[in-house]
Amino acid sequence: MTWQDDEARDLVKSFGARMQLFVRGEGAYLWDADGKRYLDFLAGIAVDSLGHAHPVFVDAVAAQAATLVQVSNYFATPPQLALAATLKRLAGTGEAGRVYFGNSGAEANEAAFKLARLHGAKSRERGADRPRILALKDAFHGRTMGTLALTGKPYMQEPFLPMTPGVEFIDSTVEALEAAIDDRVAALFVEPVKGEAGVLPLPDGYLTAAREITERHGALLIIDEIQTGAGRTGEWFAFQHEGITPDAITVAKGIGSGFPIGAMITFGAASDLFYPGTHGSTFGGNALGTAVANAVLGEIERAGLVQNAADRGAQLRAAIEGIGSPLIVGCRGMGLLVGVGLRHPVAKALVAAAQEHGLIINATNDDTIRLVPALTIGDVEIDEFVTLFTAALRTVEDALVLPTTTEVPA
Ligand SMILES: *Cc1c(COP(=O)(O)O)cnc(C)c1O
Repeated sequence: MTWQDDEARDLVKSFGARMQLFVRGEGAYLWDADGKRYLDFLAGIAVDSLGHAHPVFVDAVAAQAATLVQVSNYFATPPQLALAATLKRLAGTGEAGRVYFGNSGAEANEAAFKLARLHGAKSRERGADRPRILALKDAFHGRTMGTLALTGKPYMQEPFLPMTPGVEFIDSTVEALEAAIDDRVAALFVEPVKGEAGVLPLPDGYLTAAREITERHGALLIIDEIQTGAGRTGEWFAFQHEGITPDAITVAKGIGSGFPIGAMITFGAASDLFYPGTHGSTFGGNALGTAVANAVLGEIERAGLVQNAADRGAQLRAAIEGIGSPLIVGCRGMGLLVGVGLRHPVAKALVAAAQEHGLIINATNDDTIRLVPALTIGDVEIDEFVTLFTAALRTVEDALVLPTTTEVPA
């Protein structure tokens, strides 16, 4: 019996076959059961901000586990209050902001979805209904039924129809937003860099325009920072690149560096939409998760990892373009959220070749590689990445019969 047999027999088939069995991690490296080492440029999908087994993470888990873990939301704990204050400060909400804690990105977005509905309900009391929610085509907001309804990918929704009603999908342009919005819209949901869709940043100035337009129509602007938050794009949150103030953001992935935690952070008047009895979670905001996230965010701040993400991201993009592979069209993204565009639909072959060479990367679709390493990476990891990625590219180039300009079409 191999681990593949166990997996095929015992795990729900909602994922494709797992590519490796990992037994240990340290920093930017993973090891499989045979002791082979891999450079990890996926980091649990933009989650392991501090890399694997970082001492700050390990100590925070151990210390809090030995102190207090779970008391339910009938009670408060010091780490929960400290994390709420820290998230408010980093997001720049000022006094008026509030934080709701869940355990994942989807739970953070479920809270935001309910926030939008509560905004609609409040308008209804004043005689002006807001049954509409706008979201962007191709953006990803999660896999639960509520967040799937917000996710503009028809092929993902199709097996699970009917969806929760009211959500309409628009192109990611200011013109499309202007054309679609009216005073019956409760909220616009935005993913600032569409990660799952292939690391596609919004057009420059989109968030600034979206802020002005949603405000004019009394709609909330809700920004999904689940992949872009916690410093990954070179600011604490991607919306800060445009200096706007949203009504709510959602965070998860990087804030726990592998510990499952998510949160919705509200700004201004949106902070007073929830009232007792309207939402909750048994585990959400427990002392263990919030203590770990406090430690993780504290280490990101102490070690200057937001700036490191900006600098290493630029260095990584330049290094990839310097490889000069005929397969590479160019790089996209912000900070350490990098998409590599490919000229042929070989992303999956490249992922497999990279693993042969000891490198973990991710294909978001047939012609995009996503790179989201730990925010702690430095020169050594980038140099090693370039060596391994170049080797993987050569493997795929050699296997491909690339059409040349001298070929006469049949
Ligand atoms: C990963 C992700 C989610 C979903 O988070 P889960 O923790 O998998 O539920 C939602 N939105 C964005 C932008 C994401 O990247």
